[in-house]
Amino acid sequence: MAIDRFGRNIHYLRISLTDHCNLRCVYCMPEDMTFRPNADMMQDDEILFLTRLFASLGFDKIRLTGGEPTVRANIVDIVRGITSTEGIRSVSMTTNGVLLKKLSQPLADAGLQRVNVSVDTLDPDKFHRLTRWGKLDDVWDGVLAAEQAGLTPIKLNAVVVKGYNEDDVVDLAALTYDHPWQIRFIEMMPFAGATDLQTQQVVTMAQIQEKIESEFGKMEIANNGKLDGEARVFHLHGAKGDVGFISSVTHPFCSACTRARLTSDGRLRLCLLREKEVDLLTPLRAGATLEELRHLILNGVWEKPWGHGLADGVIPLNRVMSEIGG
Ligand code: SAM
Ligand code: SF4
Repeated sequence: MAIDRFGRNIHYLRISLTDHCNLRCVYCMPEDMTFRPNADMMQDDEILFLTRLFASLGFDKIRLTGGEPTVRANIVDIVRGITSTEGIRSVSMTTNGVLLKKLSQPLADAGLQRVNVSVDTLDPDKFHRLTRWGKLDDVWDGVLAAEQAGLTPIKLNAVVVKGYNEDDVVDLAALTYDHPWQIRFIEMMPFAGATDLQTQQVVTMAQIQEKIESEFGKMEIANNGKLDGEARVFHLHGAKGDVGFISSVTHPFCSACTRARLTSDGRLRLCLLREKEVDLLTPLRAGATLEELRHLILNGVWEKPWGHGLADGVIPLNRVMSEIGG
């Protein structure tokens, strides 16, 4: 079991399969982003080896992310390898959905259980402006294909950005009347090279909730008031689905955090918003023993920071979101 010095049992690993992406969302990366060479990234066998190692330390829940995980070559085989790893009981993916129309069924057949799809607005023009390159229709087809393939419950993630999509939260929340989905609104966070957009165009959970409730009336608290992952969950009267808020900026959930991240270049990152990392790939390639690697992981987890420092103006400077794995 991997325990940190605050007594939290860390058993949830988010693996970034690549830092590459087929979109360029304005809040995530610059349009001229340069990506890591493939040789610097974990190779397929290294991902599966490290997954087995983490599983042997009690990690039982995996989320595949990126960058965009579906652009990784051999994605279906990687998923199959991870889902068949002893000790892993839950495997899900966060994706922009662009390739889900063709990949949903093969991924489900390979054992993937659920997807979270990022959809920031239901307006095609605004969607293109936010993602720079995306077509909303592709993503919508992807969401429906995921539902058809049983990658459920479907969760949609929307980062809310002032001047881009703050009024679209109402239409997104309204989806829950007709679909048993969870629509999750995410407060934008600042990363390396933080842009004015990331720091000055944040829309808070309170502002989003107010917009939704002024249209549809007060929401009830759902999930018995407990966090669903990192989301605080609410329910519109008569709706089939739920509305969630991931409000890392105004309501951090650090005390309940059970996660660690493995970056695509094989670093164990202990907190999304802190720079502390432990290099696992270099020692692995240099022939470190299983015991040495286990030690690195357990020591790293022990030193997991208590929480982020956004309230004190501390921003992680060593990577942007797509390089960490959101
Ligand atoms: N490409 C996939 C996607 O977009 O879903 C997975 C990787 S993406 C980095 C994971 C999540 O992080 C997405 O839901 C995305 O909207 C969110 N995200 C990206 N940049 C963010 C930022 N600056 N603040 C908050 N969330 C962000
Ligand atoms: Fe790509 Fe996801 Fe970042 Fe958008 S949020 S640029 S889809 S990694």
